[in-house]
Amino acid sequence: MSDSCSPFRGSIGEAMQFRDLKKQYQVLKEDMDKAILDIVAGGTFIMGRAVTELEQQLSEYVGVRHCLTCANGTDALTLALKAWGIGPGDAVFVPDFTFFSSAEVVPLEGATPIFVDVCEETFNLDASDLERAVREVLNEGRLRPRAVVAVDLFGLPADFPAIRAVADKYGLLILEDGAQGFGGSIDGKRACSFGDIATTSFFPAKPLGCYGDGGAVFTDNDEWAALIESYRVHGKGTFKYDNVRIGLNSRLDTLQAAVLQVKLKAFMDYELDAVNAAAEQYTSLLCHPERSEASVATPVIPAGFRSSWAQYTLRLAGPEQRDALQAALKASGIPSMVYYPKPMHLQTAFADPHSGLQPSQKDSLSFRAEARNLCPVATSLCGRVLSLPMHPYITEEDIETVCSAVLNYVK
Ligand SMILES: *Cc1c(COP(=O)(O)O)cnc(C)c1O
Repeated sequence: MSDSCSPFRGSIGEAMQFRDLKKQYQVLKEDMDKAILDIVAGGTFIMGRAVTELEQQLSEYVGVRHCLTCANGTDALTLALKAWGIGPGDAVFVPDFTFFSSAEVVPLEGATPIFVDVCEETFNLDASDLERAVREVLNEGRLRPRAVVAVDLFGLPADFPAIRAVADKYGLLILEDGAQGFGGSIDGKRACSFGDIATTSFFPAKPLGCYGDGGAVFTDNDEWAALIESYRVHGKGTFKYDNVRIGLNSRLDTLQAAVLQVKLKAFMDYELDAVNAAAEQYTSLLCHPERSEASVATPVIPAGFRSSWAQYTLRLAGPEQRDALQAALKASGIPSMVYYPKPMHLQTAFADPHSGLQPSQKDSLSFRAEARNLCPVATSLCGRVLSLPMHPYITEEDIETVCSAVLNYVK
């Protein structure tokens, strides 16, 4: 690959895709078909060499001692909470603006999610609001602050220097939810290495996706890694039929590991550079110097940070403008998505703390989820965000088409 951009960008004559996985397969077809058929012919479908090799490659890329793959990104979060023994009476701080899983796993362990607001420009956890929330929980004295789930939303690492300072001050563990963040970095240090434990997802549409469900847990801590290895296979002890704790069945399929080995190579060789080039083109076309009033705000990447562009997300003035832009794009055959339309604290499962629980759990106060200041930034963002088509194989022409449709609407 001579150029930093993919030489394969382009899918001529077909409807524009939000994330073009078919085009990616066409490019990787030869290696992918061979990798898949090798596994099928080899007859080992659970664990085995592909999984072990992939775990080594992932831990090396991220720069962390241990990588343990598992069945999906949600289980990866659960495995981390189990390794820490998080449970009833524990407060876990979660951004109000994220995918449901980041918060869902907390009440599953019997702990209480406390929602924290995010920053307008980065969409990520606001460290000063985290400190406010921790102090409130401490003052109240009912719950024990234990951990913070720091999400790398849309591919941008959370503000880990600021979050680490608050976490150290109050003795919180950091769980980095890198489901969307794989490949991002801060000053060259890679995402999934910032949390005490970090997780990612290989759901097909994530920056590094497989052909089904998959996930991974990362940590430098030997003791937690050993616990996670046990929890992911039915709480195994010295061997599979010696079960020393209640665990999960949460392994990555061998086939998915083989798929990921092919995709990881493309990701490292050119895909990550290609999405960054695409993002630069979007931003330079959408930010005209003469159009100073920000009727459409482009993503902000702080100095030293690099995104893996799980999404390229605009901020509009309000819900009417956002919905009208989405309709205008749709009329031009351009797909777009609203990530996310609802903040966590307004999700029915949390707003009504008893919904979805077993009758025996309904009296348990510890299942309450709490947003103590209604997270105004997260709530406002849900009404104003719009994500544009973004993937390593998008063409320059497609980006021009999208941008002229956006600018045409904004005028
Ligand atoms: C996708 C996602 C998850 C869950 O990953 P799955 O593999 O779908 O279980 C968790 N957190 C965030 C922020 C995500 O985007």
